[in-house]
Amino acid sequence: SKAQLFDAENKVKITFKDVAGLDEAKEEVQEVVEFLKKPSKFTRLGGKIPKGALLVGPPGTGKTLLAKAVAGEAGVPFFSLSGSDFVEMFVGVGAARVRDLFKQAKDKAPCIIFIDEIDAIGRMRGKGQMPGSNDERENTLNSLLVEMDGFGTDSGVIILAATNRPDVLDSALLRPGRFDRQISIDKPDIVGREAIFSVHLNNLRLSPDVDAKKLAAQTPGFAGAEIANVTNEAALIAARRDKEAVDMQDFQDAVDRVIGGLEKKNKIISPEE
Ligand code: ATP
Repeated sequence: SKAQLFDAENKVKITFKDVAGLDEAKEEVQEVVEFLKKPSKFTRLGGKIPKGALLVGPPGTGKTLLAKAVAGEAGVPFFSLSGSDFVEMFVGVGAARVRDLFKQAKDKAPCIIFIDEIDAIGRMRGKGQMPGSNDERENTLNSLLVEMDGFGTDSGVIILAATNRPDVLDSALLRPGRFDRQISIDKPDIVGREAIFSVHLNNLRLSPDVDAKKLAAQTPGFAGAEIANVTNEAALIAARRDKEAVDMQDFQDAVDRVIGGLEKKNKIISPEE
């Protein structure tokens, strides 16, 4: 996906019902939906619509999904880019991409711009960890700041950005008129996991013994992305076993497999931390 830095999905089909749990976060972004749908309702007394909000939380918890759902609920286009795409860019390219994206978005307003992993662009200046790429990252960050300041609050463009490292962000990004709102997206508790399982189970042909509550109890610490992964693995395992429907045994084996994968990943990662 490196080649395709951003994409405009003119019709976003994802809505809030696809996002399980996250009730508080949904309530907060509901406001963004209303800003996009009926800006005049909010600006008539002289108030300014916020330009951006930061979605803060660990990987795989549904930040991208929620941002897409905002676009889906408001019926507006969704433009996205990921900070990690900018890591190895030639000088000038990152800044040009940012300008390009904002130009497209302004043409298609009202719309959402989503910036995933904004910390990869928006680290405190002078404290980058990627040798050689610092200047270019700063250029990219500066162009992002310039673009954000350059459009009026009545432009109809709202920027949502995601990070799991709000502590490393350059404070310039967090100033009023930029990402001055933070919405936290936490890992699901047992009730949230049950809700996420239920959403994903909807897509499968299930045996009657499959129980979202039991699965939620067996998956402490799992984020939504891992739950989606378990559900898909279970369906593949059941298919390999030539079953007519996915049953609880398939889910058990899928949970074991996903836990095994996570352990392996942690073993590789932990020496560096
Ligand atoms: P990252 O920070 O790694 O980009 P993220 O927080 O943006 O992760 P998503 O990409 O939105 O996470 O989640 C990955 C997938 O996990 C989603 O496409 C969806 O299938 C599933 N998922 C995550 N959270 C939820 C949720 N709350 N409800 C339903 N599905 C979820």
